Amino acid sequence: MTQNRPLQHLMDFALQTGATGVTMISSKAICIDEALSRRCLEPRCENYGLSKRCPPHVSGPASFKKKLGKYSQALFFKIDVPSEILFSSHNREIFQLLHETAASLEKEAIQMGFGNAEAYAGGSCKEIFCQKHMECLALSDKRTCRNPESARPSMSGFGIHVAKLFELAGWTMSWTHLHEAIETKMANVCGLVLIC
Ligand code: SF4
Repeated sequence: MTQNRPLQHLMDFALQTGATGVTMISSKAICIDEALSRRCLEPRCENYGLSKRCPPHVSGPASFKKKLGKYSQALFFKIDVPSEILFSSHNREIFQLLHETAASLEKEAIQMGFGNAEAYAGGSCKEIFCQKHMECLALSDKRTCRNPESARPSMSGFGIHVAKLFELAGWTMSWTHLHEAIETKMANVCGLVLIC
């Protein structure tokens, strides 16, 4: 699809900052499934409740659905990574890169005039950025995130149907099931940036 210039710039920027694939989709095409957000609790993610950017501290699927109505499009990007690293105990840097890429795309979009741009990533920012700290600073009395320039909320907490986003993009998702992904040489992580 031919993009207008600002959106094409944003897509190029995504590729320059670490994404290995990027596409623009209509915000109306984003599927929200409440059942997916419930998986944060059952089976319980070990980071459930530990960050301001994860359930139950985020607004959740219903609110996200409402929010989507205010956006016309979204940039969806992926980062391909060797599955042996993604599914190892040394994957923190991959998730850091994912969050930082999402955050820098959000920043770039805002600077370009898309003032309400909002980015979403994957994985808990508590584990990725604040692993060595006892608590999330944003959940403490200080109410301030230690990493506002890089940490972004996980798509899971809003029920964003990532597999359907891959279908829309025409990409093969390589990490639906751990055992399948391990047989795949490359796997991927992904993020979403809402744009008005
Ligand atoms: S302080 Fe740390 S755990 Fe809390 S929201 Fe920020 S990055 Fe996440």
